Amino acid sequence: MVAASRLIEGGLDVAVVESRSRVGGRLFSQSSQGLGLDLGATWFWSGEDRVQGLIAELGLRTHQQHLSGDALFHQPESAQRLDGNPIDVAAGRFTDGAQSLALALAASLPGGVIRLECPAHGIDDDEHGSLSVSVGGKAGAESITARHVVLALPPALALHRISFRPGLPDRLVGLAAATPVWMGAIAKVVVVYPKPFWRSAGLSGAAISHVGPMREVHDMSGPDGSPAALFGFVPLQGRPAPPTEAEILVQLVNLFGSDAADPTNLWIADWRADEDTSPPNVEALTAYQTFGHGLYQQPAMDGRLHWASTETATVNPGHIEGAIVAAERAVSAVTSSSSQPTSGEP
Ligand SMILES: Cc1cc2nc3c(=O)[nH]c(=O)nc-3n(C[C@H](O)[C@H](O)[C@H](O)COP(=O)(O)OP(=O)(O)OC[C@H]3O[C@@H](n4cnc5c(N)ncnc54)[C@H](O)[C@@H]3O)c2cc1C
Repeated sequence: MVAASRLIEGGLDVAVVESRSRVGGRLFSQSSQGLGLDLGATWFWSGEDRVQGLIAELGLRTHQQHLSGDALFHQPESAQRLDGNPIDVAAGRFTDGAQSLALALAASLPGGVIRLECPAHGIDDDEHGSLSVSVGGKAGAESITARHVVLALPPALALHRISFRPGLPDRLVGLAAATPVWMGAIAKVVVVYPKPFWRSAGLSGAAISHVGPMREVHDMSGPDGSPAALFGFVPLQGRPAPPTEAEILVQLVNLFGSDAADPTNLWIADWRADEDTSPPNVEALTAYQTFGHGLYQQPAMDGRLHWASTETATVNPGHIEGAIVAAERAVSAVTSSSSQPTSGEP
């Protein structure tokens, strides 16, 4: 969306094809008491100037991650209350959910640019100086001719879902096939309560736990504790399925006491099973040193195919900031290319 917005500002014709029925990808928020709670990305950090620049530009509401109170550390043989909270770090939160960033960007684009439920499944070099992108979806099969294509999805997913003709160079295929999807083998759990009862007990809501499915738990409440919510990460490696609600609640009661048994809402997002985020072998992808690899900094397919997911960024790969860094690199390669698009051809 950042790439589309900048390219349109530069006067280019752009089409965004999105396989889901919503925008945002790994920015995905649920509404609770009029605010947004995040089942995908949650935080941004100091020094992430691009995210903060966009927040200011788009006028998004933010607040700080709740830090005060003690953290918990649970192991099978012991449960410890720590003095203070060494688990959380200072971070910003999107008050309306991180997806508000993508929604605001989408709203800033001219109508008709974004095509939802429109998955790309083929990119062909048509040998006339352009690429032909075949898309499917509810509107039926179609082919879009473009001078440049920006691939804003994880490289391993792109290889799994999209056929490239002629094929990409072997080294690039090997690299993309081995590049992990950030948080692709994770389930994220968000649990909403009537009140942030853990805060009244002097707890921050932060925990590291080796007893139960969630390895980490954090406070996810809105500003001033409302809506009151906790969230956790469940590593899915070796688990055939995400945890059940009952397993989550048993763990939360263990950590925070009996008040944790009665949530008003509980969501579990299984990012491994999400075919718009993760290829089937996502758990096996562990070569994080491939993030931001030099081959991703070069366009492929005769200078026309540009990598722009967070995994390809040289700065802050994995983060929202990294996705913007990668988009900026793709935009600069497209705009500085000698073969500028002609009017009417994206
Ligand atoms: C649980 C979780 C927690 C996270 N926490 C944080 C955090 O706190 N802070 C942070 O900075 N980052 C966090 N991240 C990472 C952050 O969400 C990502 O870095 C960022 O959203 C990546 O953006 P992207 O555009 O590169 O990819 P994505 O957001 O994955 O976007 C890719 C898009 O491509 C679409 N797509 C896929 N296949 C096709 C196809 N064939 N045709 C057309 N469209 C297709 C998808 O539907 C999707 O919309 C988290 C991620 C997860 C999952």
